[in-house]
Amino acid sequence: MLDKVDMPKDRLYIGGEWRKGQGAEITSVFPADRSHNATVSGASAADVEEAIARAQDAADAASWKRLKPHERASFLYKISDGISRNIDRISYIQTRDTGKTLGETRALAASAAGTFRYFAAVCETEEEKITPARGDYITLSRWEPLGVVAAITPWNSPIASDAQKLAPALAAGNAVILKPASWSPLVSLELARIIDEAGLPKGLLSVLPGSGSVVGDLLVTHPAVGKVSFTGGTAVGRSLARKAAEKLMPVSLELGGKSPTIVFEDADIDQTIAGILFGIFSSSGQSCIAGSRLYVQRSIYKPFLEKLIARTKALRVGHPFESSTQVAPLIHEDHRNSVERFIAQARRDRGTILAGGQRPAGGDYNEGVYLEPTIIGDVAPGAEICREEVFGPVLTVFPFDDEDTLIRDANDNEYGLACGIWTRDVVKALRIGAAIKAGTVWINTYKQFSISTPFGGMKASGMGREKGRDGLRAYMQQKSYYIDTSGALHPWAGL
Ligand code: NAP
Repeated sequence: MLDKVDMPKDRLYIGGEWRKGQGAEITSVFPADRSHNATVSGASAADVEEAIARAQDAADAASWKRLKPHERASFLYKISDGISRNIDRISYIQTRDTGKTLGETRALAASAAGTFRYFAAVCETEEEKITPARGDYITLSRWEPLGVVAAITPWNSPIASDAQKLAPALAAGNAVILKPASWSPLVSLELARIIDEAGLPKGLLSVLPGSGSVVGDLLVTHPAVGKVSFTGGTAVGRSLARKAAEKLMPVSLELGGKSPTIVFEDADIDQTIAGILFGIFSSSGQSCIAGSRLYVQRSIYKPFLEKLIARTKALRVGHPFESSTQVAPLIHEDHRNSVERFIAQARRDRGTILAGGQRPAGGDYNEGVYLEPTIIGDVAPGAEICREEVFGPVLTVFPFDDEDTLIRDANDNEYGLACGIWTRDVVKALRIGAAIKAGTVWINTYKQFSISTPFGGMKASGMGREKGRDGLRAYMQQKSYYIDTSGALHPWAGL
């Protein structure tokens, strides 16, 4: 690990050139002590226009268009190597930018390297199809890039969500404009530096930190942008989808979650508790897939909860650079205020705070944006804390009696991102998994990820899937060819 790394300078990556943005300033602050990381001049509307024009030229350039898949893939392999070489820098910058533990940001950087490598391999091994002919012709189904695509990402795991969009979009032959979240602009600029160093032709990538309402909105509404791949909150995702519908543009939406975790009486209790703690409190709960609603079979509810509460209170809340830290600070003061508002409302809704609920006090805690891991019981399923995404270290707990009411309650939420099931009975786990409306079901595990397995949400958690081989096709459009093999004149013409 490096002791200290220079933060990215006040330069944006616009059409392959490094220069100052013309938009409002963005300040990145270290959540552990609120010290200043960097101030970046964000992109203006004019900067976005320029990036789009450069992207169009780059996407249309014969030198890029004519590359064979294995030649495009070679850029992605180089980017992957560049990320791997720079893991210390990337993780340091991302920890400063987001307050995540170094262990976590190292894992995210490694996963980003794996993502570029995976999509390089998909790109050079993907096959096009000859479809069954129904006449004297050969039919081909071929895939083409969309042209210019935009990627809009949130602050909670920037390097990983950036890679999940840039790698397939570039592998598919597009040019990409990335807009990272305003609370975490730095690691995306570092990624741009690495991609530039890997020799990607200029103009194919721009990285434009800037406000959602200026940069994000223009990327969505601009006629030259052929797709937006968005990861973020459901409210912004919905408004973006409405604007995309106006210009009939495809969007993929990876949105919020309020995922149920279900514990049956026959589960391995220690394995389950470890998985539940990790599922809700790692990343300080700032995770779309956080298992934030816990349903425990009534026969074991009381002893299970006692153990869970004791383990939760023993979690080490601390500085993100300390290797022993399990729960690091939240990203920003405004976000902690938002999480605390949910806790206060839960108290008013007669919830019992079973663990946490406070800011840890004293010493370094006073300087940082810390919050204790929190468990809340005794709230009615209709209460706000049970329905809304908190995006913080807050777990609500409920007992359940039978499968039918469990499935009804677990599905009684607008989100459908993920679900955890803990039981030794695999048949029961598969039965429950089939009944839960969620894009990912974890059985006796939680928050496991693989780039080769599709990911995405049902209901208000999103539209479309990322990752997996089909992740490449999400950035392409299909074209069909009919090639005559008969040489015959068409009888209709009567010639
Ligand atoms: P957010 O407020 O929706 O912002 C996401 C991105 O959209 C940011 O870059 C933001 O820019 C931009 N944006 C804001 N307004 C926009 C507009 N009008 N047009 C276009 N873009 C706009 O979400 P967040 O607070 O950053 O992230 C937390 C949310 O992301 C949670 O709901 C979480 O569940 C979700 N998430 C989902 C997944 C998934 O895979 N399903 C993964 C991670 C996170 P600014 O920062 O400048 O406002």
